[in-house]
Amino acid sequence: MPKLSVTSHNRNICGLTYVYPVISRRAGGLSIGINFNPNNACNWRCIYCQVPDLKIGTAPEIDLNLLAKELRLFLDDVLNGDFYERMDVPKSQRVIKDIAIAGNGEPTSLLNFDVAVQLIGDIATQYDIFPESHFVLITNGSLIHRAVVQAGLKILNDFGGEIWFKMDSSTNEGRALINHSAQTHDSVLKNLTLATQCCPTKIQICLVNYQQRGFSDIERDGFLSFFHAQRGKMEIENVTVYTLARPSQQPEAIDLQPMALEVMENFAQEIRALGYDVIVTSY
Ligand code: SF4
Repeated sequence: MPKLSVTSHNRNICGLTYVYPVISRRAGGLSIGINFNPNNACNWRCIYCQVPDLKIGTAPEIDLNLLAKELRLFLDDVLNGDFYERMDVPKSQRVIKDIAIAGNGEPTSLLNFDVAVQLIGDIATQYDIFPESHFVLITNGSLIHRAVVQAGLKILNDFGGEIWFKMDSSTNEGRALINHSAQTHDSVLKNLTLATQCCPTKIQICLVNYQQRGFSDIERDGFLSFFHAQRGKMEIENVTVYTLARPSQQPEAIDLQPMALEVMENFAQEIRALGYDVIVTSY
């Protein structure tokens, strides 16, 4: 019998195409993941990415009927069936913490992203799980300049949702190294500003110790000057600083280690001193 635990993030555990369960230690319960990228395709290639066989690409065309069927089936199983017993989920974690659009790739690359967000929100509303359960989009933020993505973010906002916006580096060199992204500082700033204008936004900073380089002064200073400059200009709900919790599936895995907790705590303290709410987590 399959067992779900905080160490099991196997997205195939229920055998569905778009919906997968995760017992999230960070969330403190069940997170219902929605995967728009069953093809394991992303427009970035983060060196810490846990997606196996990751390819450069975009989300394929979605079967909305199948998505709706799977989500209803899954919510029925969790709310009215014996899902928790079958999966041997501890009693303290038998609560739906969130529905998280967080696939094996960048979810906002889906061509009709807005339609899919509306569908998920409508079904979750029919099952009456909001606002106790949160509605979350986990994104690298690189496609928010697209009108269809902004339309989806506004729909997310209408359902009381939130954006978790990835920002692992404060420099163009760092983004190229860690995310294999060519995004510039100006484009990150523009997309982050758009995100905050559409829906409450949280920043997610994943710090990794790559090739024993640690956290450089250039990166730290870049982040601090960014947060200083944006104070009062855009609404950031909070900032989470976290690190590698499960092994990377990328070729760089051998040179990757989690960032030391002390380094993350010191960095968080410096961001807090600028007036931001900061959470540090090592898982
Ligand atoms: S943005 Fe997310 S899915 Fe894409 S490569 Fe990075 S960690 Fe993997």
